Amino acid sequence: MILILEPDTTTDSPEFRQLLDYLDNLPNIRHRVHQETGVQQLLTEVYLIGDTAALSLEDMRSLPAVERVVRVSEEYRVLGRHRDDTRPTHFEYNGVRFGQDNLHVFAGLCAVSTREHVEAMMRALQVHGQVCTRMGAYKPRTSPYSFQGYGKACLPWVFELAGKYGIRVIAMEVTHETHVEEVREALEQTGHPTGVMLQIGTRNTQNFELLKYVGRQRDFPVLLKRGFGITLEESLNAAEYLASEGNRRVIFGLRGMKTNMGDPHRNFVDFAHVPVVKRLTRMPVCIDPSHSVGSRDRAPDGLLDVLHVTAQGVIAGANMILVDFHPEPSKALVDGPQALTLEELPAFLDDVQIAREAYEKRAANAAARRVG
Ligand code: PEP
Ligand code: MN
Repeated sequence: MILILEPDTTTDSPEFRQLLDYLDNLPNIRHRVHQETGVQQLLTEVYLIGDTAALSLEDMRSLPAVERVVRVSEEYRVLGRHRDDTRPTHFEYNGVRFGQDNLHVFAGLCAVSTREHVEAMMRALQVHGQVCTRMGAYKPRTSPYSFQGYGKACLPWVFELAGKYGIRVIAMEVTHETHVEEVREALEQTGHPTGVMLQIGTRNTQNFELLKYVGRQRDFPVLLKRGFGITLEESLNAAEYLASEGNRRVIFGLRGMKTNMGDPHRNFVDFAHVPVVKRLTRMPVCIDPSHSVGSRDRAPDGLLDVLHVTAQGVIAGANMILVDFHPEPSKALVDGPQALTLEELPAFLDDVQIAREAYEKRAANAAARRVG
């Protein structure tokens, strides 16, 4: 059960103290307080855990400072969509709004390579009105002998270049808690020219200690990729780990499943789950067409498979696209064969726009024709 308190209820107010005194005396019930400082107001929710079936909604609603009460199902307590649950499905970070109702493109380098490449990428993004990108500094690789990313050494200049070209959010994978601190230090050292969305990759979806660490910090939002060989439910529970530790600014990323049934694609595209995740949870949903398809193969209609699957995710309501681009794919340090070129960026963005407009028309049509 969740008690949603009146906006701007502070933890030192008499009403809050009275409420907690009451909750402390309930048998077999534990509680946990979540606070979120929004742009306009402070939101406080109290999660009740334990024998909540015995509590009446009416009684709880009449407690001091309580505005609303939501009875939650067992699953995804924090991130889930529960009955009569009208809590927001969006958040803001560094001036960018992420929600289940909008769409952002994160085109960029799978792995940071040269300064010239990074700068060319960011310049192209600015020219095309983009404020988000992806840049890999820490790369989890199958072989220990493969390039592992430039790590913290590249962070200051990558962040400075991002600031120069108006990039507000960089999606960047972290594979260890020290990486979070390195990102934080580099942002401080450079005067916060940009923002970072921490990416948990598919190999770490169930690295619970990493999830807890990233969930405990509130500075950075998180993009959690679906685990490549586990059920959707297991991956959604991984997202809930982040939220249960306090960080609810989580985006859920679909990136294809590892099975030969998807051949010749690198992974079996799972974007049919975009609306499913939006129905089960309040998270915005990201698609990663590059790591799903893994090639630059082209269909007879002239469209790359990467564009086709992107459109499939977007027409189903995806909210974020993480996609590999590179100014010179043959010189990319990781995943060059699946990267699109800067010359392909405008056509890619146009295609996304076509699919997004089609999605919006479909949703409006469904709303207008809905019966019952
Ligand atoms: C990536 O986005 O660079 C990446 C490694 O993705 P995934 O974790 O989905 O394999
Ligand atoms: Mn990659």
